[in-house]
Amino acid sequence: MKLARFAHAGQIKYGVVEEENGAEYLRELPNGPFGELRPAGGRIPMAQVMLLAPCTPTKIVAVGLNYVDHARELGMAIPEEPVIFMKPLSTLVGPGGLIIYPAMSRRVEYEGELAIVIKDTTRDVRPEEAKAHILGYSCYNDVTARDLQQKDVQWTRAKSFNTFGPLGPIITDEIDPDNAPITLLVNGQKRQSSSTNNFIFPVARVVSFISQIMPLYPGDVIATGTPPGVGELKPGDEVEVFIEGIGRLRNQVAA
Ligand code: MG
Repeated sequence: MKLARFAHAGQIKYGVVEEENGAEYLRELPNGPFGELRPAGGRIPMAQVMLLAPCTPTKIVAVGLNYVDHARELGMAIPEEPVIFMKPLSTLVGPGGLIIYPAMSRRVEYEGELAIVIKDTTRDVRPEEAKAHILGYSCYNDVTARDLQQKDVQWTRAKSFNTFGPLGPIITDEIDPDNAPITLLVNGQKRQSSSTNNFIFPVARVVSFISQIMPLYPGDVIATGTPPGVGELKPGDEVEVFIEGIGRLRNQVAA
């Protein structure tokens, strides 16, 4: 199932994405995307809506170093446990939303990531139970002020500027999260290319680990870490995270 959150006719709605003859439509989910999905009403053409960030989390948890190939690129040891940090909800923007370049930073970078979206209250689960608590997957850009990350001990400032967390375009449970190719492009040029089969801590392990620290609630987002090739963004750039089966998360950088 593909799920979206969108603005249409002056209202914000959740819906199921349907496809026919190459055209995409939405059918509204009046009861939302959690629990039993009951689409209602007629089809709304995708072109008539504005897609929003596909969920409204109570928190966004991010994993630091999580790709074997990225650890190798940085010459860093493979961590024994996930390193996690949090992004404030004010970082969240949807597909097409602007990433605002903060005046305090001289070096802003993209980090293309697979996002996990949680389905129900998830507390203290084992890895083998974790996937039953996942609603689906989306694309995420863990935008980072790299100069400030290097300057500060804590990453809070570097990771938390307004609009530093694009998410979207939709949520799907139709991909294999343990073997998903992930690509990031800047102005149409490929900058990151890897697969989640390079994860140091696979999706089930990450959800289990975080659930032992804090309860996760419906719509909560976990950003799973970025592959090699992180690099700079400048005002005017268009940055795109692409995961086959999810789609393209495109955002423009504005001064
Ligand atoms: Mg990251």
